[in-house]
Amino acid sequence: MSNLSIRAPLAWLGTGGLTADVQIDLDGGVIASVGRVHPVPEDTDVLAADGIVIPAAADRHVHIGLADPAAVLARGVTAVRDLGWPADSIFPLADLSELPNFDGPLIRAAGPMMTVPGGYPTRDGWAPPGTGREISGPEEAAAAVKELTAAGATAIKVSLNAEAGPVPSDAELTAICDAAHEAELPVTTHTQGAGQVERALGAGVDELAHTPWTHRLSDDVVARCAATMRIVSTLDSLGFGRDTPALRTALDNLRRFHDAGGTVIYGTDLGNGSIPPGIHTRELLLLREAGLTNEEIVLALTRAPIEPGAPADLIVIGRDPLRDLAAFDDIRMVVRAGRVAPQPAVG
Ligand SMILES: [Zn+2]
Repeated sequence: MSNLSIRAPLAWLGTGGLTADVQIDLDGGVIASVGRVHPVPEDTDVLAADGIVIPAAADRHVHIGLADPAAVLARGVTAVRDLGWPADSIFPLADLSELPNFDGPLIRAAGPMMTVPGGYPTRDGWAPPGTGREISGPEEAAAAVKELTAAGATAIKVSLNAEAGPVPSDAELTAICDAAHEAELPVTTHTQGAGQVERALGAGVDELAHTPWTHRLSDDVVARCAATMRIVSTLDSLGFGRDTPALRTALDNLRRFHDAGGTVIYGTDLGNGSIPPGIHTRELLLLREAGLTNEEIVLALTRAPIEPGAPADLIVIGRDPLRDLAAFDDIRMVVRAGRVAPQPAVG
């Protein structure tokens, strides 16, 4: 395969403002150099970008088994993290996604959600059997974390959905966190119902997989969350374009979390309801409603800055996203791992 160089009239490299007349040289799946336009070796293909080049997006909360991977990639998302699916199908798919000819994003996965017998999502229609990993007692919990780590999990997801059924005890939750941290994996939780965010905080959970929406968190809890946890946004999954009380509660929690210095990352919960594949502009607009600046939002969305050594994952869009987030409705090209992704026919 010959190497590729991309020339762009304008680029946003992942920090600061726009840069004019940029050339990005790719070496296989990695960015080799970034600089001014210059001649390329004979075996290198040059691609002239019709728009602004920026880093590609990552969606940190998906259920890819309920979506079309090719459509996700074609709409600018080159990496996803799956937060709940049976181990026997999601880990082989994640392996497959590493291949250069895979028509979809790079997939990282948590595997099944840790839960207790009868707990969420074991009785939920959207979740195939095996989406919940039922454990009884701290020892079984720790053993299950080890098993998932060996299978290739890049995070451990725990179900703390007290509105849908029983949830892991404090001892089980602590055992899960300790085992995950021993394996250097972060713990992310689905927290739903009174007191569950507080329990996650107490056990050392690293991340909330959704902005909390069932209760208004106290300022004290918000401050403690901001110091030790990050939040995956998933705001539009609370209304799918409609204004709902749940969305209002979540926006209030997220606004105060962000004000307190907390880290917000982009995630859509793709696979849930009518969330569309790829970069979801409405999620970005909701993040702005929560008080993030356009630059903070684009940083929360993008996978890695465009710099030597970073993955060769780029997109070309029609306008400057720092001025107008709706620029993501006009994606003109997607490059994943140094290869131009097929674009669906316009129709
Ligand atoms: Zn989810």
